[in-house]
Amino acid sequence: APLVAARDLVKAHGRTPALRGASLELGAGEIVAVTGPSGSGKSTLLHCLAGIVRPDAGSVTYGGERLDRLPERRLSALRRTEFGVVFQFGQLIPELTALDNVALPLMLAGTARGAAQESAGEWLERFGAREHAGLRPGELSGGQAQRVALARALVTGPRVVFADEPTGALDSLAGEQAMTALVRAARASGAAVLVVTHDAQVAAYADREVRLRDGAPAGLEVGA
Ligand code: ADP
Ligand code: ADP
Repeated sequence: APLVAARDLVKAHGRTPALRGASLELGAGEIVAVTGPSGSGKSTLLHCLAGIVRPDAGSVTYGGERLDRLPERRLSALRRTEFGVVFQFGQLIPELTALDNVALPLMLAGTARGAAQESAGEWLERFGAREHAGLRPGELSGGQAQRVALARALVTGPRVVFADEPTGALDSLAGEQAMTALVRAARASGAAVLVVTHDAQVAAYADREVRLRDGAPAGLEVGA
């Protein structure tokens, strides 16, 4: 059975249809890229799968449980423990150092500050950002900040990482470094990754590519 499954999702933003019957499955440890033109519904699909947005119709299951029917409190608890999320602009907290940004999800989950910082340091290391531990986001390049954001998404040991255009604001070298680190870390920890991208170079890191067009699969699935 798939770890995450979306079936026949329909979602409109006001009167604008974003998804018109989109389905997608993500297996445990699988890396899937969702591609398609701007406005084809990629971000909305990711938001529905990650439990950030509720679909108007259709179902989202995680480990067989209906996410779209979970009460908000249980949904946010599940998101915190099971999912890691990264957006185009890392959205680090500007007042905190890179180390404290990465330590924060652990502290919110009840880990003591010292242990959280130790673990955060190890994750920064895995993303080649250890030397930036004491710097604030404003002092980092885009690529450095995004690798810190990826470390933050993985620090709690999520089973699924949702990444929405994670390289969209990076030059191609920084994008490659971020994707290489993400894929390596996901493979090492067994996390599945759903990455939304319009960049073919990023899609090439995935096991499988799902193309959307006008809010539904374009009927073309490219296997690796
Ligand atoms: P993609 O990620 O492929 O660019 P999106 O899921 O962001 O696609 O958007 C799908 C459609 O929904 C587009 O027409 C977009 O303009 C619209 N849309 C997305 N988010 C909103 C929103 N918050 N309010 C209104 N329209 C939205
Ligand atoms: P993407 O690059 O993934 O397509 P967009 O630039 O379309 O993202 O959207 C960025 C943000 O703006 C998202 O949160 C999306 O929900 C929102 N958004 C997109 N289109 C619209 C729209 N037409 N009206 C209002 N919000 C929108």
